[in-house]
Amino acid sequence: MQKITPQILIINHFQLNPSQKRALGKLHLHTLQDLVYHFPHRYSDIGKIRKISTLKGGESATIYGTISKIKTRKAFRTKMPMAEGTVEDGTGKIKVVWFNQAYIAKMFPEGSMVMLQGKITDGKNGFTLANPEIERTKDMPIDASDTLFMKDKEMFGIPVYPESRGITSRWFHYNIQKILALGILDELEDPIPKNILKKYNLPSLKTALIWIHGPKKESDAQAARKRFAFEEIFYIQLSRQRSKKEYEKNNSYAIDISQDKLNEFIDRFPFTLTSSQQNATKMIIKDLSKEKPMLRLLEGDVGSGKTAVAAATSFAVISSYPKGKPVDKLQVAYMAPTEILAKQLYESFIQYFSHLPVQVGLITSSGCKKFPSKVNPEEPTDISRSQLLKWVANGEIDIMVGTHSLIQKTVQFKHLAYVIIDEQHRFGTTQRAKLVQKEGHSPHFLSMTATPIPRTLALTIYGDLDLTLLDEMPHGRKPVTTEIVLPSKREETYGKVQEELARGKQVYVICPRIDEPDPDKELALIVKSVKEEAVRLKKNIFPKYNIEILHGKMPAKSLTVSKKSKESVMRDFEEHKIDILVATSVVEVGVNIPNATTIIIEGAERFGLSQLHQLRGRVLRSEDQAYCYIFADTKTKKTLDRLKALKTAKNGFELSELDLQLRGAGELAGKKQWGISDIGMEAIKNIKMVEAARSEATQILEKDHDLKDHPLISARIAKFAIPIHFE
Ligand code: ADP
Ligand code: MG
Repeated sequence: MQKITPQILIINHFQLNPSQKRALGKLHLHTLQDLVYHFPHRYSDIGKIRKISTLKGGESATIYGTISKIKTRKAFRTKMPMAEGTVEDGTGKIKVVWFNQAYIAKMFPEGSMVMLQGKITDGKNGFTLANPEIERTKDMPIDASDTLFMKDKEMFGIPVYPESRGITSRWFHYNIQKILALGILDELEDPIPKNILKKYNLPSLKTALIWIHGPKKESDAQAARKRFAFEEIFYIQLSRQRSKKEYEKNNSYAIDISQDKLNEFIDRFPFTLTSSQQNATKMIIKDLSKEKPMLRLLEGDVGSGKTAVAAATSFAVISSYPKGKPVDKLQVAYMAPTEILAKQLYESFIQYFSHLPVQVGLITSSGCKKFPSKVNPEEPTDISRSQLLKWVANGEIDIMVGTHSLIQKTVQFKHLAYVIIDEQHRFGTTQRAKLVQKEGHSPHFLSMTATPIPRTLALTIYGDLDLTLLDEMPHGRKPVTTEIVLPSKREETYGKVQEELARGKQVYVICPRIDEPDPDKELALIVKSVKEEAVRLKKNIFPKYNIEILHGKMPAKSLTVSKKSKESVMRDFEEHKIDILVATSVVEVGVNIPNATTIIIEGAERFGLSQLHQLRGRVLRSEDQAYCYIFADTKTKKTLDRLKALKTAKNGFELSELDLQLRGAGELAGKKQWGISDIGMEAIKNIKMVEAARSEATQILEKDHDLKDHPLISARIAKFAIPIHFE
């Protein structure tokens, strides 16, 4: 028999056609080892698949069939766009409708083979399947004549693999079974130490691979998935903790400030700090007073007052001097993800520091500023980049605010002691490593985020940071009035929005999320729905008002006057040239537009609670009462109960925990950017597993920091050290 090793290239082992080769490349599968690590994302349960002729009203079912007719039309009373079609499977046909999801007609043209899952309703015109889940399939359900799958009768379900155009789940199933039979598993060594497997009762690599690709019973599949979930979280922990240790090898400036002096600064704020803000400030100052660099994450909802904490702690830093050099001052760098946000932070920092002899600089790709101006000490002034950099380098500028141009090599500080990053998830550990100054000085590091994620996930992706939560809102802030709007109340709600518009207020309309495995296609569909919604609103609902669209396919900045860019649309909205902005949920409209007091979110059932909460945060900044209308198209009690949590939960973090419980880790918003696989995300539901992975990682690194005794682990974690990308 031919000798098989994990490193053999798939293309050398199998006869492949060009489109299969392309598909494997797209899935990043190159070697046979990659192939056995390509895991099914679920197991299809053949038993539940029904023939259309046997369907009964009121039951939930899975059917496979071909779309024979499909079109879009407007719903009779609400005028909502909808898709309507017929699906046939050879035994019969059934009518299928998707309310408010007209795009489905474009996604699944006539002749598409699909799998549908949903509830059968028995109406006066026969059976209908309303708003079912729909998935494209390449194979019809397996029947008994299929020899390969005859054997599968022993399995608890047929594994369903992530596919790509050109290669099917079935190809994976068949060929993975083949190489397993050739003995590839004997050539794979288990990277996880035996004692750990034993301690947590996890199957060995070999067993787990057999089980995951062909489980005989459900518990086998679960045990295998648990092992791989643990393994991934364990690697992520190792990689994060190791980079933390690496960073902490360097010294940092220890700051020294008296409580009185700090209080004097804080007492000037136009408000009193919440107790969360006080605790966070205290905790950070304590870290800053050490010679070991701080690595901390400050999590708090939009509006919880993170900037004030950043200002107070920055004050502590710039009031201190490097050891033995009392004439020099320590410096602060404050980095924001976008230019608009950097400018806003700059403005607020000027307010916090204007009464002091403190110089604040701004650096973005479109220009530099310095405060105070020599001519007018109340105002900032434009200066050249080279002049600003000179003053940063000789230590005259105390605080630098900027976009990521702040961490370019050309920006040299004299004594950089403290770096603050707004919105951590766009800043990877590789970028952080660049902050280390000459002579191995690490600045203290504070990351701030308003992205609500569950604690288990935070412990994983921010495994290198200590966590502090701002879990309370400043007093006197009016909560956003939130209403869950059923289709029957649409008209009435538009009436209320009309009143706000008539008062001169502005409105956001967020279009629904659309699930489509191909990101390009997904974007195209969303853009389409944004355009359609804008046209509909203009024509049928708000003809008197200016309506504009904003989506991810638009260029960031305009190169020509005629072509609209995100920036120009945002500016027009800010200047109230636009009354209603119809946008996708992915577009960052997080900037402060206090006159926008209402947000409408379409297709709310398709969003996670924490994402809805974040979207709602966009109207929070106003002095006026703000409104959030959550438009849901379904009336199921479960969905409505879930959405009601938006009215009762205390903060975004609580909502993210609810998302995790109710919808599972795969549904958490922003999943793509964390670089965790679907299996890894399964661990996020399990705090015990996350803690176990964390503590095992710590123990290994204590004894073997460079992983010299664990070469297999060392090789695998290289994959998890990939820098997190900027937008
Ligand atoms: P975020 O956490 O979203 O960055 P900001 O720091 O921008 O929030 O604060 C939002 C608003 O709340 C600002 O106008 C700020 O001045 C105000 N603010 C911050 N802390 C308090 C407080 N303790 N009491 C009242 N207002 C506060
Ligand atoms: Mg902020």
